[in-house]
Amino acid sequence: MKLKNGVEYMESLQKLKPVIYYQGKRVEDVTTHPATAPHVRAAAMTYALASDEEYKDLATAVSHLTGRTISRFTHVHQNIEDLIRKVKMLRVLGQKTGTCFQRCVGFDGINATYSVAYEIDKKHGTDYFERFKKWLTYIQDENLMVVGAMTDPKGDRSKGPAQQPDPDQYVHVVERRDDGVVIRGAKLHMTGSVNSHEILIMPTSAMDESSRDYAIIGAIPVDAPGITMIFGRQANDSRRDLLEDIDVGKPSFGAVGGEAVLVFENVFIPNDRIFMNGETEFTGDIVYRFAAHHRANYGACKTGLMDVLTGAVTYLTQIQGTSKASHVRDKITEMIHLNETLYSSSIACSAEGWPTPSGAYMVNTMLANVCKQNITRFHFEVARLALDLAGGFIATLPSEHDLESPEVGDLVRKYFSGAESIPTEDRIKIGRLIEAMTGGTALVESMHGAGSPQAQRVMILREGDLARKIKLAKKLARIPERN
Ligand code: SF4
Ligand code: FE
Repeated sequence: MKLKNGVEYMESLQKLKPVIYYQGKRVEDVTTHPATAPHVRAAAMTYALASDEEYKDLATAVSHLTGRTISRFTHVHQNIEDLIRKVKMLRVLGQKTGTCFQRCVGFDGINATYSVAYEIDKKHGTDYFERFKKWLTYIQDENLMVVGAMTDPKGDRSKGPAQQPDPDQYVHVVERRDDGVVIRGAKLHMTGSVNSHEILIMPTSAMDESSRDYAIIGAIPVDAPGITMIFGRQANDSRRDLLEDIDVGKPSFGAVGGEAVLVFENVFIPNDRIFMNGETEFTGDIVYRFAAHHRANYGACKTGLMDVLTGAVTYLTQIQGTSKASHVRDKITEMIHLNETLYSSSIACSAEGWPTPSGAYMVNTMLANVCKQNITRFHFEVARLALDLAGGFIATLPSEHDLESPEVGDLVRKYFSGAESIPTEDRIKIGRLIEAMTGGTALVESMHGAGSPQAQRVMILREGDLARKIKLAKKLARIPERN
């Protein structure tokens, strides 16, 4: 592992020259710009954890390709234990950052591509798998961060990729050369893209033969010519831009993953970095495997966030003198119960993992979809309970500038005080943390990250095996099978 800690990771980013815009202006250094730096620091925790004695077992793995110790974020799951360790690692990182640390997207892209490239080769006699292993060995040895880029803009959703009036609504090949391909299009909502080293592009949906040019998987350095990133706005980002501290709620880390639009304008991918090229019958597999891995993660990273939120609310009730009320204890119990239910889902879909023909392990896809579907409800319910217990002051708090003001600071301190032994600043800081973790983008991410709720419902119904369930019912009711 060349990059050994968070500092080395940040220094490595400073050597790259990606084209990034935020609010219409170029971002020269993602590690220091107020909009991007908190996300960089969250991703840096994935590097820090690997050198932390307490968590080394979770955050590192032995490469099955080289036998060398690598970051787990670059590992291909070799067994059920790997899948479970990943879940535990993500929860720890959620607890330490209180936000999305972004690196799982590339991790899941690596695992999905590994098994699919193997299967394409078996069918077509191509050499994608060897190319992919070579690229992955480079990623593992250098310890790079990869952004898995899947979601296309999709234009008119009633039409497929090849039927769009504007073909760029899906990333596609515009030129085929002897030494590689040239692509054009865009990817939206790209978590961690501005602070990754490499982009792994993958198709966004199952495609038919008419979409051959859209069935492309390839790896590209983030600062390759023709790539432009436009970094998104987030709730309360102007507080961050003003370099405020308390009002940001979580000053060290971002509100959510730090998403960007990734635009590809005639970007070249050399042959040795292409891992699918026109094999449309495998597009469904890559999407499904990637999505299932990522959906499994949500019962891990988000439970880490909810651990923080539960702790914040519990402390606030102590400050406010309500902690012993039975309804307060009951609501906190419910928060814990919902959170552990989600974690159980993540563990369960890992424990029921299975080996693909390549040897890479997949999660149980049905349970992974159920896990993510429950996140879209329970995280909101946990947030609702947190806001219920916190009280209205979360919405009406004066700013930190009032707290610091010689004219009104004492008034804010006096009238926002709680238990005598605890400084008012604590109450305000914890209130802002709860605001940051329940307002705006954090919950949107829980709802739509790894696929919107309907995407899981489609897969849950598809995997529900209703024909078998009908048989079970008929047998018990003694209804004969009629054909
Ligand atoms: Fe990882 Fe969770 Fe962020 Fe996805 S949402 S990248 S699983 S931390
Ligand atoms: Fe996400």
